Amino acid sequence: MTRSTAIGLAADYFDSGRFLQDLQRRIAMPTESQNADRAPELARYLQEEIAPALAALGFETRQVENPIAGAPPLLLARRIESEQAVTVLMYGHGDVVNGQEGRWQQQRSPWVLEQDGERWYGRGAADNKGQHSINLGALAAAIQAADGKLGCNVKIIFEMGEEVGSPGLYEACREQADYLAADLFLASDGPRLAASSPTLFLGSRGALQFKLVLDTGNGAHHAGNWGGVLRNPATVLANAAASLVDARGVIRVPGLRPRQVSERVRALVRDFAVGSDPGDPVLDANWGEPGLSAGERLFAWNTLELIAFEAGNAQRPVGAIPARAQAVFQLRFVVGTVWDQVQPSLRRHLDEHGFADVQIEIQAQAPATRLDPDDAWVGLATASMQETVGKPVTILPNLGGTIPNHCFSEALDLPTLWVPHSYPSCSQHAPDEHLLGPVAREGLQLMAGLLWDIGRQGRQVADQRAAV
Ligand SMILES: [Zn+2]
Repeated sequence: MTRSTAIGLAADYFDSGRFLQDLQRRIAMPTESQNADRAPELARYLQEEIAPALAALGFETRQVENPIAGAPPLLLARRIESEQAVTVLMYGHGDVVNGQEGRWQQQRSPWVLEQDGERWYGRGAADNKGQHSINLGALAAAIQAADGKLGCNVKIIFEMGEEVGSPGLYEACREQADYLAADLFLASDGPRLAASSPTLFLGSRGALQFKLVLDTGNGAHHAGNWGGVLRNPATVLANAAASLVDARGVIRVPGLRPRQVSERVRALVRDFAVGSDPGDPVLDANWGEPGLSAGERLFAWNTLELIAFEAGNAQRPVGAIPARAQAVFQLRFVVGTVWDQVQPSLRRHLDEHGFADVQIEIQAQAPATRLDPDDAWVGLATASMQETVGKPVTILPNLGGTIPNHCFSEALDLPTLWVPHSYPSCSQHAPDEHLLGPVAREGLQLMAGLLWDIGRQGRQVADQRAAV
């Protein structure tokens, strides 16, 4: 049996329609983790879809309770061939964001996978059911091609709460560190750089969401009778917001900017053709940090986005000074940012700019992580992927978005490789989410080849890394 058998079997899985069938069944389960009423669906997805698929491949599976009470369940699985073989830890999330029924074009249901040319519409088609279904299919192909002797051990952790911030995932990785011990982490989520570019990313930017609130304690008052003598919280907060990020999106708080970004990382991303797919939004050349290319702004720098601003009621304005104003920001940051000092940095900045009574509330945070682009695993993966598809592979030091990579890179101390099977305009988290059929087919082949190569060359790479 050969490498090309594995890749051929992976393509057959797609061409025979079996991949479509599997994905149809999975999309039909409305596993919305943001919707408390769907809790039974979350457990059912693991029990009825993932556990049987893994058991059929020879995995031992066990559903475990989330270490955080009330948070969605997790599934752990492992398929051990030999003590000497290297071990790959894989990951997927079976939950999806809300379906947003009624907002999809052509009255599509988010829970019915619908093929329209190259596009396969359905909630979770890209994020993440399509992606983990590709990986399970590729694993099956590689195992079959190797007559059951893949050459590496495989472990898997599935969560059902990624879209609500992966509650308990970090803790579960810590608690189950022995069960999950591995040499390498390999998973799929998020977009390729562009639909036609097979991509390998090594971590993600971090994210920190915070809210600024100003409540003067005066309540709302008539704008004519009191305007000019009462402070307007909306006006003050708009100015506070402007002091954080300017009118072209440049961050003005030193503590929220990266302290340093390596030249190696900047060089990797500098010439990326960001936003080059049909249907991508038009980039604004005058937006963002001056002196950086679009690739550097997106992958090697920080951004501060004002994502919500509220005062009064813009739908039904009344002639009053609002009682209160609030603004929600998201900071996306790269490795090299002192992110655990963001709150004191913000406090100092607001105080210095005359906004001492604006309150800061940190709402969510996840660290930035990144495997060294020169790591030997990156070399193996890049060469493998190039051999499979016969075209160059894009190495992204980190994703622009945020994934729970720190659970694997920090809690389990693993080198992390991500091979995304979606693309930037997949409408993830919006109506009309879709997977591209040709990218899925290529993804199946890429992953089958990669798993095959890890089985054959992984021991050597692990030993080489251990010797350094
Ligand atoms: Zn998502």
